[in-house]
Amino acid sequence: MFIASPETPVLELATGVRSFVASEIRMIVGAERPLAAGRQTLAVFDPSTGAAITSVPRSGPEDVDAAVRAAKQALAGEWSRRLPAQRQRVMLKLADLLEENGEELAQLETVNNGKSVMLSRLVEVTSSAEYIRYMAGWATKIEGSTLDVSIPVPPGARYQAFTRKEPVGVVGAITPWNFPLNMACWKIAPALACGCTVVLKPAEETPLTVIRLAELCLEAGIPAGVVNVVTGTGEEAGAALTAHPDVNKIAFTGSTEVGRIIGIQAMRDMKRVTLELGGKAPMIMFDDMDLDQLAVAAGVGIFFNTGQTCCAGTRIYAQKGVYDRVVETLAAIAGSLSIGSGLDPANQINPVVSAKHQAHIRACVDQCIEQGARPLLDQKAHDGPGFYVQPQIFTDVQQGMSIMQDEVFGPVVTITPFSDPEEAIRLANDTRFGLGASIWTTNLNKMLRYVPRIQAETVWVNAHNLPDQNMPFGGLKRSGIGREHGRAALDNFLETKSVCIAVG
Ligand code: NAD
Repeated sequence: MFIASPETPVLELATGVRSFVASEIRMIVGAERPLAAGRQTLAVFDPSTGAAITSVPRSGPEDVDAAVRAAKQALAGEWSRRLPAQRQRVMLKLADLLEENGEELAQLETVNNGKSVMLSRLVEVTSSAEYIRYMAGWATKIEGSTLDVSIPVPPGARYQAFTRKEPVGVVGAITPWNFPLNMACWKIAPALACGCTVVLKPAEETPLTVIRLAELCLEAGIPAGVVNVVTGTGEEAGAALTAHPDVNKIAFTGSTEVGRIIGIQAMRDMKRVTLELGGKAPMIMFDDMDLDQLAVAAGVGIFFNTGQTCCAGTRIYAQKGVYDRVVETLAAIAGSLSIGSGLDPANQINPVVSAKHQAHIRACVDQCIEQGARPLLDQKAHDGPGFYVQPQIFTDVQQGMSIMQDEVFGPVVTITPFSDPEEAIRLANDTRFGLGASIWTTNLNKMLRYVPRIQAETVWVNAHNLPDQNMPFGGLKRSGIGREHGRAALDNFLETKSVCIAVG
């Protein structure tokens, strides 16, 4: 069943989705499909109704240990003997299978995460398939270098040296719930390209598509044990994976708070680690911006994925000449967004992932109002069940308020006026995060002058929140360590070995 066009509403869930959700969902560990050793489970919810739809194993250290053993065994087994071109071929097959199963995967993602099925189709499936293809290409292009060396001992001796790039080993991948399938592919694809094996722990809220992904890995011809999935909580399964002595590298995406815990544990064991963490992205709008672009800024930059995006534009700084128009236009756009189930792509604001996250967003909004900020939209309670929140825009905010400093991770944005560009740059950089940012101007000089001044790893100009597999992505400051995407991603999954040969 191939993927439907992005705008097609889902009137009835595909049979495969219904039967998968109705089945007893099991983990993938080597060639086995185990339940948790302790037989415990975690409920999985449909955010559009708030109802539990299925459950997954709640694994603990014993289950994680079995998965790491399977990954370690696979690392030394057939996988290590596959030629780069053979790794590339199975990855390309995996990308094809993702698309062939695309409609079911997209619907499953929407049922589990709540997001628009349009985004599930375009990002979770199509972008993920392209990501895997891109990384598959790198499998055959891994290279070291030859080195001229000047070793003076013993006198008269000559040496020739070169470097080899070798797989880092068993990768423990821990992913968040906001782009479940896509984030899993961001970890698995470079790991496979480099010849590593993986134990993946998806977020407890959104494990379903990741389990299907691991099933498709087997179907694509990736040997059992190369990609393993353990489900469970962060404190149990995630912590056990991070601390496991046979895990060589942790690839983590999630909050800064958990990233810190993982980073400390990784350093204890000298594990390799990459941390893709939170953000609080500024959007600086200059007087000379093209105001027609505000629709794009709102749709892609702010309210995309119901604001549950690490790079979402959450702090707008608008120069005084355009401030009123920016406020007026964004308030009109936000007020007109239709709210409803992600299965209908016409709905632009969908349920957020969980009751806990819904409560968190509402608490952030309430606190902001208590602190004196001005909400531009009426706060109407959503009728009926489901984890819905309303979009909200605040003016009259102070830089020190928590809405300006902490992640809300929902459809909430602030707008602050500025006169002097230097002031805007200072305010934009006044954050502990440094993930994404954007500037909006039609003046080339301003672009070139201010882009280098912004403390964020990715800076968009007249665009926002658009990563690409060929564009390195990561965080400055407390937004993380390391880069994903592009050639830079491979270094995270490779060790450099120096080889020095005495020439006779
Ligand atoms: P989270 O940090 O709560 O959880 C992320 C993952 O870590 C989950 O799988 C969770 O089970 C696991 N985890 C939790 N505690 C753990 C522990 N002690 N040890 C090991 N694993 C543990 O984040 P979330 O709420 O799932 O996702 C939202 C966060 O992710 C936001 O902060 C967002 O900015 C960030 N994010 C960052 C990027 C990026 O590329 N920089 C992308 C997407 C999301």
